[in-house]
Amino acid sequence: MIAKTSNITFDVEAVRSEFPVLDRVIYENKPLVYFDSAASSQKPRIVANTVRDYYLNEHANIHRGVHFLSQEATNKYEEARKKVRDFINAAYDEEIIFTSGTTDGINLIAATFDKVHIKKGDEVIVTGMEHHSNLVPWQMMCERSGAVLKFVPVSDEGELILEEYEALLNDKTKLVAVSHVSNTLGTINPVAEMIKSAHGVGAQVLVDGAQSVPHMKIDVRDLDCDYYVFSGHKMYGPTGVGILYGKKELLNELPPYKGGGEMIKTVTLEKSTYNELPHKFEAGTPNIAGGIGLGAAIDFMLREDLTDAAEHENRVLEYCENRLQEEFSDIKIIGQAKEKTGAVSFLLGDIHPYDVGVLLDRLGIAVRTGHHCTQPLMNRFDITGTVRASFGMYNTTQEVDALIEGLKRAEKMLS
Ligand code: PLP
Repeated sequence: MIAKTSNITFDVEAVRSEFPVLDRVIYENKPLVYFDSAASSQKPRIVANTVRDYYLNEHANIHRGVHFLSQEATNKYEEARKKVRDFINAAYDEEIIFTSGTTDGINLIAATFDKVHIKKGDEVIVTGMEHHSNLVPWQMMCERSGAVLKFVPVSDEGELILEEYEALLNDKTKLVAVSHVSNTLGTINPVAEMIKSAHGVGAQVLVDGAQSVPHMKIDVRDLDCDYYVFSGHKMYGPTGVGILYGKKELLNELPPYKGGGEMIKTVTLEKSTYNELPHKFEAGTPNIAGGIGLGAAIDFMLREDLTDAAEHENRVLEYCENRLQEEFSDIKIIGQAKEKTGAVSFLLGDIHPYDVGVLLDRLGIAVRTGHHCTQPLMNRFDITGTVRASFGMYNTTQEVDALIEGLKRAEKMLS
């Protein structure tokens, strides 16, 4: 189960004080309780101030400017790339590609991979718990290239059935795409083990890290993943920026994704040659403020001991699951994996999740309801949606108590 509490030094009140939005009082004196960090986390002062300072005092276009501001902005942007490299322990700066987010990173690989690695009849494996972002691009790639998409099934507990995964792997498997952590179930998937097996048949692996990077230390070299993608806005950073990590030799094999400025070396009217990594995949003026802001989000996260922060978050999650089970006889937690982080999905009796969400909102509690962009997973559990409470390092067990009280009211009013 979730990591048990030990003597952690994590000071949640100090962390909360960095997030002004958490002091908001909404609807007639209801203190905001924010349990929607899996959709997007809140932003600490350092991120907002860094982006503000950039726009007010430092803005210029980057990379080709000879003037002071352009060089300063370029240095800051490239420093952010180095921060990301160190944060996930990549070997080289050029393995870090700035994207607009997880979705963009997956689409980059899905739009280029088949051009060099797929022939008709080859196979691609995804799982039954993927976010639509890590499913639809592969459906599109398979449709285009004639590859066959295969699926790792999900158990009743919300874990991947690994024996079935192993059975799917064969010498036709060219790519496995799997989420490190499920945004709906909170399940932590055993990606290191899955990568090892995939490499055993010569397949490459893309890991969707949208929900893992905010909650655990990631070491891409240790995992030995081929590609790892994530979004800035789920890890306390700005919206509209994300990262694609790829092994240098593999990124070098792929053709460019988008054409335009920055990604070229030479251009004639008839033909172009392409730039080196990472610029080959960074056509056009990037989200400069977003990149620099993402660097600030990493600075923010590294101020904390990330193991302690994770332990605190898992304690809040465990407390929430325990209280849900203790207080409601008619609660159904969707996803009871042994290893979980970040989120709990549930159904309260036969009350529609949307109604629960609306009532909680009136009490100042922000949760998410619906299919969470995982419709196939909803079909697997034969439901149309869930209520999902998801956590950041700023959440507390007192906020969970408020959620439980809110749910009691919902049960009384809506049953
Ligand atoms: N993958 C997972 C597991 C997610 O949770 C999300 C967003 O919720 C995405 C991909 C897509 O992320 P973005 O919308 O930032 O591109």
